[in-house]
Amino acid sequence: MAYVIPPPPTVGVPVAGTSDLFPVRRIYCVGRNYAAHAREMGGDPDREPPFFFAKPSDAIVVAGDPANPVRIAYPPATRNLHHEMELVVAIGRGGADIKVERALEHVYGYAAGLDMTRRDLQNAARDKGRPWDMGKGFDQSAPIGLIYRAAEIGHPAAGEIRLEVSGKIRQHANLNELIWNVPETISCLSGLVALGPGDLIYTGTPEGVGAVVAGDTLIGTVEGCGSVAITYV
Ligand code: MN
Repeated sequence: MAYVIPPPPTVGVPVAGTSDLFPVRRIYCVGRNYAAHAREMGGDPDREPPFFFAKPSDAIVVAGDPANPVRIAYPPATRNLHHEMELVVAIGRGGADIKVERALEHVYGYAAGLDMTRRDLQNAARDKGRPWDMGKGFDQSAPIGLIYRAAEIGHPAAGEIRLEVSGKIRQHANLNELIWNVPETISCLSGLVALGPGDLIYTGTPEGVGAVVAGDTLIGTVEGCGSVAITYV
């Protein structure tokens, strides 16, 4: 049987060092996931469980070249567009109820990403107990750099994450400050939904989020995982 309208294309993110694409299935994002200071080794029993939200896969903007930021339009319906610089995990093997100890076996690779947020819409929704979707899951809200294969770079548990906006450092932290690290995040999320090959997980942002305006260039890097670079026009 034929499709009655053209089926939407699969969204692909280039894999660094190859001519191949990583196909995107779903985009999950972790809510607040950095403490102001590195948490003590061994975990904190008082940690609240992580919470998750989602973006549509076609919110992806492939933008991995800091020498050539991708120009995208300042989105509609907001006066307070915020950057959230994040480590992105690319799931290569799906599963449900994944154990922490086995979680990294499900990771294909890592990337630098931006969870762009219409903060005014998100806050209004939050205050009314409404869904965040229109604050978080809008068009072009998920810029991402190239995906770096875990087989090449390993699994970064520490390393610098930073974002410059028009030349000024806005966010600067270390991956070892994640409240819920990558294996824990995968394990927890896979207890809520079955993960599938092609899923991306934006792991949360450190402190320093703030507004951007048209004309701003955002260049974010995650140590060992490349860059993401966009300009709002
Ligand atoms: Mn975020």
